[in-house]
Amino acid sequence: MADTIHTKVLVLGGGPGGYVAAIRLGQLGLDTVLVEADKLGGTCLIRGCIPSKAIIHRAGQFEAMVHAASKSVPGISLSAAPTLDMAELVTWKDGVVKRLNTGVAALLKRAKVRVVEGWGTFSDAKTCTVETKDGPVTIEAGHVILAAGSKPVELPFLSFGGKVISSTEALDLAELPKKLVVVGAGYIGLELGIAFRKLGAHVTIVEALDRILPLYDAELTAPVAKWLKKNGVTVHLGAKAKGQEKGALVVETADGKPLNLPADNILVTVGRRPATEGWGLENMAVDMTGRFVKVDDQCRTSMKNVWAVGDLTGEPMLEHKAATQGEMVAEIIAGHNRRFDPASIPAVCFTEPEIVSAGLLPSDPAAQGDNIVTAMFPFLANGRALSMDAGEGFVRVIARKDDHRVLGIQAVGAHVSELSNEFSHALEMGAVLEDIAGTIHVHPTLGEAFHEAALRALGHAIHI
Ligand SMILES: Cc1cc2nc3c(=O)[nH]c(=O)nc-3n(C[C@H](O)[C@H](O)[C@H](O)COP(=O)(O)OP(=O)(O)OC[C@H]3O[C@@H](n4cnc5c(N)ncnc54)[C@H](O)[C@@H]3O)c2cc1C
Repeated sequence: MADTIHTKVLVLGGGPGGYVAAIRLGQLGLDTVLVEADKLGGTCLIRGCIPSKAIIHRAGQFEAMVHAASKSVPGISLSAAPTLDMAELVTWKDGVVKRLNTGVAALLKRAKVRVVEGWGTFSDAKTCTVETKDGPVTIEAGHVILAAGSKPVELPFLSFGGKVISSTEALDLAELPKKLVVVGAGYIGLELGIAFRKLGAHVTIVEALDRILPLYDAELTAPVAKWLKKNGVTVHLGAKAKGQEKGALVVETADGKPLNLPADNILVTVGRRPATEGWGLENMAVDMTGRFVKVDDQCRTSMKNVWAVGDLTGEPMLEHKAATQGEMVAEIIAGHNRRFDPASIPAVCFTEPEIVSAGLLPSDPAAQGDNIVTAMFPFLANGRALSMDAGEGFVRVIARKDDHRVLGIQAVGAHVSELSNEFSHALEMGAVLEDIAGTIHVHPTLGEAFHEAALRALGHAIHI
């Protein structure tokens, strides 16, 4: 007979949606059990955000040393080119991941959350049986928070295995592939493709649409396209991956011609899908919206006291959305009055250079018409950017003409990810252009470009 645990709240999944919910529930004094089959931290900590940024960081350092060794860094030269030990790099990355994973376990313990390790399967909406290493444990809960996350999309003609890898395997390669072909030019494929190029791989990108990072406009992505070209990354746009033949990826190019791209690894990054299978979701009688679990603006599913957060519930599939929803649901269960209604869910591509987008893009229907003013300020006119050899890119502001309300802010350039929170904060506070213009921005910083973009929208930029 399986052991049975009775709890107020059961959280399925220890990624950012689930573990943040569980910590907050614990803080609020609610009896909470968290079920996780793999490692605490989920996709983000273990095989997503954190390991990818660790590898991107080291790749940037390696590239800088390669440049110094080839005498292209004024004032610095290295007598020998750096050498790469990919296995050691991955071990270091694992250390970063382990530290955060241990930190999450400690936070859950401090919040008095009981973690049950193993795969959970629901037999009904409030009953879940977990296959632990000591046998099955059944959990019966008053509330259930579903936070099972997402998985990489697999192409039927390019199944994962062997040289065909997803982002998960790409972050664990013990050897640098000499030739890497990336299928899909979304943010994950580009972030990893660029990092591997910096580490010395020969990288080719295949994208079915006619542009890279298709969620963003061409002006915003142009600096990334320029970097790819300058650094010898071939990008085949409008090209369809068809399968493998003798170690090469078979592609149909935009003009319908067959092309074989030899590859040591084929990295498939064509999107992610919600992890809805294998854990009894079908026994819970919750409504779906397409492939995702349907939730309202409080993350309630159609089943009473069953909640869902994070990647399972739809786009954008981002850590900060999952964590915000998790925290909110915990507070709602504890009786607080909360709603998920952010002014923006900012998104960052950690490409070269980086891209940030918060709020409306120029293509958004609400950003059309005569009542819109758009202004950009280039990093070429920003002292901090020039002092970092980073004059490529800009900050762009979209606002209403009549009341100057800021509707959207984008940036492309080195380190602009660090501006994302100022952008998001401005939108959340309902800033008008005068609020940005009237805020003293520290000199010399990249953020001054945001200040100047707002001034420019008001018609009186100083430095351009
Ligand atoms: C390469 C890569 C880079 C990324 N970079 C970024 C970034 O820079 N910024 C950003 O915001 N987002 C990034 N993301 C996306 C981010 O990782 C996800 O949006 C986030 O992890 C979603 O959190 P979640 O809690 O919804 O699900 P997940 O993090 O996927 O967690 C779900 C957890 O549930 C567990 N689970 C599922 N089913 C069961 C079951 N039946 N029993 C027990 N346990 C179960 C899984 O093991 C997993 O640990 C990246 C993703 C990838 C793949």
